[in-house]
Amino acid sequence: MTNRITILGSTGSIGVNTLDVIAQLGEDYAVDALTGNGNIALLARQARDARARLAVTADETRYDDLKDALAGSGIEAAAGRSGLAEAAEGYSNWVMAAIVGTAGLMPTLAAARRGANIALANKECLVSAGDLFVHAVANGGGRLLPVDSEHNAIFQVLEEGQRHALERIILTASGGPFRTWTREAMASVSAATAREHPNWSMGLKISIDSASMFNKALEMIEAQHLFHVRPEQIEVVVHPQSVIHSMVGYKDGSVLAQMGCPDMRTAIGYALSYPSRPTLDVERLDFTRLSRLDFEAPDEGRFPALRLARRAMEAGGLQGAVLNAAKEVALEAFIDGRIGFLDMAVIAEAVMDRMAHLPAASIMEDVFAADAEARRHASGLVSKSAAA
Ligand code: NDP
Repeated sequence: MTNRITILGSTGSIGVNTLDVIAQLGEDYAVDALTGNGNIALLARQARDARARLAVTADETRYDDLKDALAGSGIEAAAGRSGLAEAAEGYSNWVMAAIVGTAGLMPTLAAARRGANIALANKECLVSAGDLFVHAVANGGGRLLPVDSEHNAIFQVLEEGQRHALERIILTASGGPFRTWTREAMASVSAATAREHPNWSMGLKISIDSASMFNKALEMIEAQHLFHVRPEQIEVVVHPQSVIHSMVGYKDGSVLAQMGCPDMRTAIGYALSYPSRPTLDVERLDFTRLSRLDFEAPDEGRFPALRLARRAMEAGGLQGAVLNAAKEVALEAFIDGRIGFLDMAVIAEAVMDRMAHLPAASIMEDVFAADAEARRHASGLVSKSAAA
């Protein structure tokens, strides 16, 4: 059977890798719709190469550019929120959710509600909307397959029949470029330095989130919702080589790990081919060339994002949405050079303090309202911090 796939965020790092994997999977997969934002030239080229039905830019002002770039191809062009909704609600039975940030929530939700299988790279869906998102997928009747390498690793080694014996989930973290830096040294780093990830090649924002360990913080919350575990069952261990992508510990003392070279295509291929494993042209792990595997405890003093994640997980409700929205505003401000690297966590924590007493979300609109309020508070704090 041919699977039809829509890639939300095809022009990004995950999107490009997904198209590579689809090309490797051969005739089993055909592309339905592709979406991007600013990179119109790449979007049009991808749509032509993949013979997509529809190409969408999220940026309404770029609609004419996209239409021009697709001229003569017969591929439909669309733009803006309605265009993203059209892509998400289209004819595919698979959707790769790879838009960066909360912008990915609405279209992914639309795809989930109509019963598409969701390959989820956009962790923000789970961090912000948590169980509401999980229920939307379940009610729609599709499957939720984790693409984030850590969660994909856990998914690979979490034995379905052994859930009663699950004790803990151990998320590995590379520690990022500042693993050994002092807080004083981190205070003055630029976005250009922070985006240099030691092992993984990723988009700008997730690379900086890895440097601050906000990425790991979001992954802790993501794991809580994906695997239905309590906060105290989620551990983080720093493993600088990124060879072990994560582990599951069982009540008999056994620990199962998934290993491989750091390449997102393995996780993408596993998700899209589930429950069988595809053949992929990726680098093989050569144990004779691995001189060592190191592990160390994360330092929550230097990386307070991890502490904020625990706080959000323990509080539950809308705290994930608050943390994520405040972090996104602070991250944009750091990238623009308006605040320092360490200010991101300070701002996120201050917004969490301010919104600590929100009731739990019962409908998706509660999530959007909390997200908007957290952004307002965070923007105010950014302005204050930038003026100081
Ligand atoms: P990139 O920044 O490389 O790509 C983001 C994609 O989203 C691009 O297609 C971009 O379009 C599009 N986009 C940007 N802003 C908007 C918007 N406002 N509305 C709609 N589309 C938008 O990100 P990554 O591929 O690195 O990450 C994507 C998601 O996957 C993130 O949630 C990330 O946390 C997660 N993830 C990524 C991993 C990785 O290895 N990269 C690993 C695990 C998870 P354009 O480029 O045309 O502007």
